[in-house]
Amino acid sequence: MAIATVNPASGQTLRTFEPYPAAAIEQRLARAEETFAEYRLTDFAHRARLMHRAAELLDADQETIAELMTTEMGKPLAAARAEAAKCAKAMRWYADRAPGLLADEHPAPEDVTDAGAARAWVRYRPLGVVLAVMPWNFPLWQVIRFAAPALMAGNVGLLKHASNVPQTALYLEDLFRGAGFPEGCFQTLLIDSRAVEGVLRDPRVAAATLTGSEGAGRSVASVAGDEVKKTVLELGGSDPFVVLPSADVAAAAAKAVTARVQNNGQSCIAAKRFIVHTAVYEEFTAAFSARMAALRVGDPMAEATEVGPLATRQGRDELAELVEDALAQGARVEAQAKVPAELGEGWYYPPTVLSGITEQMRIHHEEAFGPVATLYRAEDLADAVRLANDTPFGLSSNVWTTDPAEQERFVRDIQAGGVFFNGMTASHPALPFGGVRRSGYGRELSGHGIREFCNTTTVWIAAEV
Ligand code: NAP
Repeated sequence: MAIATVNPASGQTLRTFEPYPAAAIEQRLARAEETFAEYRLTDFAHRARLMHRAAELLDADQETIAELMTTEMGKPLAAARAEAAKCAKAMRWYADRAPGLLADEHPAPEDVTDAGAARAWVRYRPLGVVLAVMPWNFPLWQVIRFAAPALMAGNVGLLKHASNVPQTALYLEDLFRGAGFPEGCFQTLLIDSRAVEGVLRDPRVAAATLTGSEGAGRSVASVAGDEVKKTVLELGGSDPFVVLPSADVAAAAAKAVTARVQNNGQSCIAAKRFIVHTAVYEEFTAAFSARMAALRVGDPMAEATEVGPLATRQGRDELAELVEDALAQGARVEAQAKVPAELGEGWYYPPTVLSGITEQMRIHHEEAFGPVATLYRAEDLADAVRLANDTPFGLSSNVWTTDPAEQERFVRDIQAGGVFFNGMTASHPALPFGGVRRSGYGRELSGHGIREFCNTTTVWIAAEV
């Protein structure tokens, strides 16, 4: 894939970049290693000052970076602004909380004297140079949610961003440098995905985190496995949105639309499969379909736009193929929004609701990465749980019920990294984020996320020498 900014709203190539030659990659690897040797010795207060400064700079740049994200990948401008604000918040959260999250742990004295120690404790130390391979869909947030905790823990980062967001990738490098972080603390590598293996195999790289598709995750994890390097994988999802009879059906239908079409439908944690109890199926379908059909598709720079274009032509075509496969096998279109003709050459796809989904259809077990919802009718609670788990993925889940027993049933049985009741999945710095099954492994955010790239070190001092 060419490294280029191509506006999805017009299909126009605005800027292209040459991939870094081997010497430039080598220079950055050497700089990362040298920087880590010094940076790991800095204290939390120093790192926090720099991280707060970076958050201030990001706030000041909000409008510019929001416009850049919208230009590079097509999300509505208001959503881009919100993404930048969320990043600054997460940076401050980690700046303030890292000392507590990574404080030494002291087991009960009687437990360690039992083990022959006068004293024993646990220290969280940084691992070193962490390679982050990141996707374009939240081009700031995906990176910050790795970088803020990693840098606060004393690691240094190398970013291989998606090839269609190179200017956002370069902005991120400038942001950290501008805040005062040493030059090698956070560096962007403008490289093709085929160059990732060489970087990951380099002995100066300690670990990798990848957010993206299952294929990319498998490829990076195999290389890392071969090198015995730690990885965190945040991959795709096909999250269920379950509606049971005790729910406020009108509220569920309204939230379902946001949950499906946020970020033009290109979110790993978007609700993709809508599983509705038969007692409220007609009511939910009518309300949900009416709202989906009424969505305003348009230029992502226009304030009134609710759904913009898909980020790439390939993504738009792959989504269209999934829908065509379902329709050819008997799926029905319950609702479809209009794409205004004057939008022209952009990679738009109309928000669509499909019903009559069967196991033979690709869309039943593949991720629909765009504004297409599939509807399922559940006969009872057990059927709803079965359908919710009937996917290779396991990122998050959304369940609408006010019945505590039903809620507990999902907490116990859902095969996913999260379950959100009477709302929609969202990430928050204080809560762990990640999946099971084909959605990956490891966690980002919260204390769990910052400790993923730490060396959990046991310190033991003998009672007697
Ligand atoms: P992608 O094609 O896998 O790309 C993600 C990143 O991986 C890009 O930087 C890409 O570089 C790189 N890459 C691709 N193939 C690679 C390989 N074989 N070896 C090394 N690096 C490789 O994913 P995408 O289409 O951009 O993003 C959409 C996917 O990401 C969806 O499945 C979505 O659900 C998932 N996602 C997951 C989360 C989560 O937190 N779980 C969040 C957001 C998105 P190039 O751009 O140069 O190809």
